[in-house]
Amino acid sequence: MARIVAKFGGTSVADIERIENVADKVAREVEAGHEMAVVVSAMSGVTNKLVQYCAEVSPLYDAREYDTVVSSGEQVTAGLLAIALQKRGISARSWMGWQIPMKTSDIHGKARIEDINTKEMEKRFAEQEVAVIAGFQGVTRRKRIATLGRGGSDTTAVALAAALKANRCDIYTDVDGVYTTDPRIVKKARKIKKISYDEMLELASLGAKVLQTRSVEMAYKRDVSLQVLSSFEERVGSELPGTLVTKEEDIMEKHVVNGIAFTKDEAKITVFNVPDIPGVAAEVFRPLAKNNINVDMIVQNTSSDGKVVDITFIISEKDADTAVELLEKNKKLKGAKIRTAKDIVKISAVGIGMTSHPGVAQTMFKTLAEKGINMQVIATSEIKISVIIDKEYLELAVRALHDAYGLDKKKKK
Ligand code: ASP
Ligand code: MG
Repeated sequence: MARIVAKFGGTSVADIERIENVADKVAREVEAGHEMAVVVSAMSGVTNKLVQYCAEVSPLYDAREYDTVVSSGEQVTAGLLAIALQKRGISARSWMGWQIPMKTSDIHGKARIEDINTKEMEKRFAEQEVAVIAGFQGVTRRKRIATLGRGGSDTTAVALAAALKANRCDIYTDVDGVYTTDPRIVKKARKIKKISYDEMLELASLGAKVLQTRSVEMAYKRDVSLQVLSSFEERVGSELPGTLVTKEEDIMEKHVVNGIAFTKDEAKITVFNVPDIPGVAAEVFRPLAKNNINVDMIVQNTSSDGKVVDITFIISEKDADTAVELLEKNKKLKGAKIRTAKDIVKISAVGIGMTSHPGVAQTMFKTLAEKGINMQVIATSEIKISVIIDKEYLELAVRALHDAYGLDKKKKK
């Protein structure tokens, strides 16, 4: 017997037929003897609609009442799923955030979970009752409903799994796992069976948007094993059909490179002709930091006469115009020229085995060179190597690297 928290996202509960499908899946886990806490999202599209209603009534709405409105979608699905389970002869009840209670901070619209009291729920597990929990919501000290920010049901599920000391947290969604790269670009992309938290965070922040970054971080900190799986496939969570995100120690087969991630929404800024004296880099980056602009990769080159330097860095494309404006305004950078390139992409190879295997960077450089692709910026960390290249070579580069690192799906004989 295991204790499992299962979370079903909006597309998995989009209509009655799909809620019945969820009930079938939960019923199979219950029949196998597992204790189940099921966290549900609102039916897909519902939360967007509710958000829109608030804005229609008043663009300056009261955030507490916004939370009252937008949290209601989850109440509907929690009740419906409890009814569907009861119809199958399974004892089940719904739990709103305030009934658990799931206590949160009072930052309405993006509250943080502070404490979860699981006593009553656990007592009922012993009586074979399934708990169906409305995701995305909690209650503040002032007894108001608060929501956790869009996509927050993942966070509800992970926090609950930690509080319940669950054996696993299954995140059912519309994709069947985490892939070695985007299958739309590389047909030979494979589903990853097991991946470490570190790798998942890199892949998530690099654009593999399967799990909310915040929920992966929480799972990491609180030692919750997460499985990403599809609610549209036959197998249930306990058959482990998806991708398991877990501790590095639990991964026997450590791939040198486990995935190739890429992001298209970056811009490259080069500041030319800056005097080579202490303090200039601080002048370039101070106004950016002050304006909350995140800088990702930085390269500095000195001219051959050693008098001036060029500083190149990568930021999010949406920040590029603001950054240029700030740099041009800075009188201490007088004489500097600024150039922006938006037609670039960042490609990264990610893997925990990298630290113990030399030559991983060399494979990337050689592979790109063979395809005639120029690398504009290179950066490395313990578990990843990233390069900036022209956007037009994105697909070619991702395919070539996926193959070079041995990630391509093997042909079935
Ligand atoms: N229903 C909420 C949203 O759409 C929370 C969630 O689905 O995770 O943002
Ligand atoms: Mg979601």
